[in-house]
Amino acid sequence: MSADEHLLLVVTAGAPEGARLMDADPGLPHLSVLDVAATRGDGIFETISVGSGHPQALEAHLDRFERSARMLDLPTPDRDLWRTAVQTLAGHLADHEEAWVKTVLTRGIEGHSDPTGWAYGTVSPAFHRERTEGVDVVLLDRGLRSDVATTSPWLLAGAKTLSYAVNRAATREAQRRGADDVVFVSSDGLLLEGPTSTLVVRAGDLLRTPPDALGILPGTTQADLFAAADQWGLRTAVEPLTPDDLAQAAAAWLVSSVRHAAPIRSVDGVARTVDAPLTAAMNGFLRARRS
Ligand code: PLP
Repeated sequence: MSADEHLLLVVTAGAPEGARLMDADPGLPHLSVLDVAATRGDGIFETISVGSGHPQALEAHLDRFERSARMLDLPTPDRDLWRTAVQTLAGHLADHEEAWVKTVLTRGIEGHSDPTGWAYGTVSPAFHRERTEGVDVVLLDRGLRSDVATTSPWLLAGAKTLSYAVNRAATREAQRRGADDVVFVSSDGLLLEGPTSTLVVRAGDLLRTPPDALGILPGTTQADLFAAADQWGLRTAVEPLTPDDLAQAAAAWLVSSVRHAAPIRSVDGVARTVDAPLTAAMNGFLRARRS
């Protein structure tokens, strides 16, 4: 299997009595042109990394899937069904050291009330360069205040919605500026997250990350790293951070499910130190997870 081949399971996610899994051919059409996933980006997703057949941080991903569903007023996903879908696909990927499975739940066909769901998976691309040499990032203003989650919950800041066009546009802007990736900043000057990753910085023996109360996604990779920090002699703090904190940090990373820990090697063109031993330890730990 290669990274451009996929495995697919269709999840009928409507009424619990109708919920079931069906094997499907990813080469065939399944999604209606009337599905609001296609016409409005109205739905949610999760991307779960799979290590030698084992879904990683699966329960945290299922928690976040449910959280996103709540934020979008979607029906609560049938947790057992989605867990089985992910585990089934992961089982088919057991021959691969690194793979991923994506779960998608949409509001369904315009004018109907049944959501649409599916899960698919494939082998991960190689991320050796990003994990060792690191990524160049630019700071981009997200244009939202850090209290957006409480003042304007309808903006869905911090939900993992299918509307990732903005995240893609930000990444293209980074590329136009000669960089690889982005750290968003709130309009009132706090560091937020990457378009597909969580920011982690190290100051001395302290790993720090911004809180999800700022309207960002609670990262499953960051949570696993923080739970393991003890073994590297590190403490952890979830607290607001400024661009100054990043400038003064000993090291920084963008962390996410499939790419894992990518060290930040420059910010807005200013070179930063890559903490190679800690990065290697983090990535070894993330890759070896069996749950
Ligand atoms: N923030 C955003 C906006 C993301 O899209 C992602 C992952 O795709 C993350 C953070 C990192 O989350 P996780 O570590 O659970 O993959």
